[in-house]
Amino acid sequence: MTLDLLPMDPGPRTLPVLGDAAKAALDPYMALIVGYRKSGLSLNHIIGCPLDCGYCVRHFWGNFDVKVPHLLCPTDEAIEMLVSHHAFRPHTTPIQLFNKATDPFLPGVKPHLFQVLQALDSRGYTNHVLVITRFHVTEADMAALEQLEHVRVTLLFTYSGIQDPRVEPIAKSEVTVRSIRTAAAHRTRTGVVLYWRPIVPGWNDQPETMARVLDLGQAVDAIVFTGYYHKPQNADFLRDLGVEVPYGDDYARRKVMPADLDAHVVAAWEASGINTPLFRKTSCGVAYAHQAPDYNGHWGVREICDICPAAQRDRCAADYREPEPADMQDVLNLFGYDSDFVIEPGHIWTHGLGEQRRYAIQHTLRHQIWELDQPHYLHAHGRSLTGHSSDPDQLAAVTAVRAQFEDAARYEDD
Ligand code: SF4
Repeated sequence: MTLDLLPMDPGPRTLPVLGDAAKAALDPYMALIVGYRKSGLSLNHIIGCPLDCGYCVRHFWGNFDVKVPHLLCPTDEAIEMLVSHHAFRPHTTPIQLFNKATDPFLPGVKPHLFQVLQALDSRGYTNHVLVITRFHVTEADMAALEQLEHVRVTLLFTYSGIQDPRVEPIAKSEVTVRSIRTAAAHRTRTGVVLYWRPIVPGWNDQPETMARVLDLGQAVDAIVFTGYYHKPQNADFLRDLGVEVPYGDDYARRKVMPADLDAHVVAAWEASGINTPLFRKTSCGVAYAHQAPDYNGHWGVREICDICPAAQRDRCAADYREPEPADMQDVLNLFGYDSDFVIEPGHIWTHGLGEQRRYAIQHTLRHQIWELDQPHYLHAHGRSLTGHSSDPDQLAAVTAVRAQFEDAARYEDD
């Protein structure tokens, strides 16, 4: 396929390095090279992207106008930062590469992607590595991925079925569709996931659009579906282009997937009759692609598992173990963290760790780790929330926080 069909210039083959002044002016989130996210420890030393997806999260951090990918540091330094991160554990910590502010298969980014993959593989690490793209993946790329011997790579192809070029300028080129077919046809050890997102009412929830996505999904290991981030920055951008954006000014929710839309997606998948499993959570689809149990412990939030294949449910059930207090304390000690905690069925409450630390623990224990912003409750009642009388207001507050976390476990950022 020739890249001439693209509506945008995919950027240089040799990337410029971002100057110190520009670096100093970056939003701290954009400047963060290694950070922990729900799907794994995330390496992002290249930022900038020409693909112009209208809903792009870079709107939130003032980076959307940077169309040329730039290096924040040399790739060998970035690799060292990743593997020396305090939370990195060989064979355990899931890793994400270039998932925040660029596409890893852009011509200038791809050599760095392979440098990182080969560096991890040469050390014998078997960690999951997630690579999200919508760009051009060739047979040669697949051959290079298939030569890796240790790291468990999953390609997640963002494909929404949206045809409106104001929202998805790349769609017309069909580059993503071709890449999915190429990857699926040339994979043996590489996981291939169709990342069906964002699903947005009015944009891509029509039966024929959904049927097209699901038809393409026949070729891959798993389909993962999610909503989109509805925030003023991307909503204003799209509305300025004349795009109808649903959900009004209800910007508080992080990722929007109303229950009726969830049901609509599941019904479309069931009606399609395809054999490819559908998942609500990224880590579930990735784990399934490698015949592994979910590394985020979603089995503890069983309601999301209703659409999961029986063999995968068995895998997660067999892997599931409620940690003992000593297990949790060991992990806290391992990372040098400090928190009170409460073990409840399916999850552990912690306090004040922050997202990054919680996810590091979650991936180590393969168990849901939640934040209870009610330290008084923790301190007052030690390690059990059951079997005692308590202030009804306080119990109601804890119940509300628990409900929030159950909801977040379904819809939070991957
Ligand atoms: S059984 Fe549940 S936790 Fe495990 S992969 Fe399936 S959906 Fe995810």
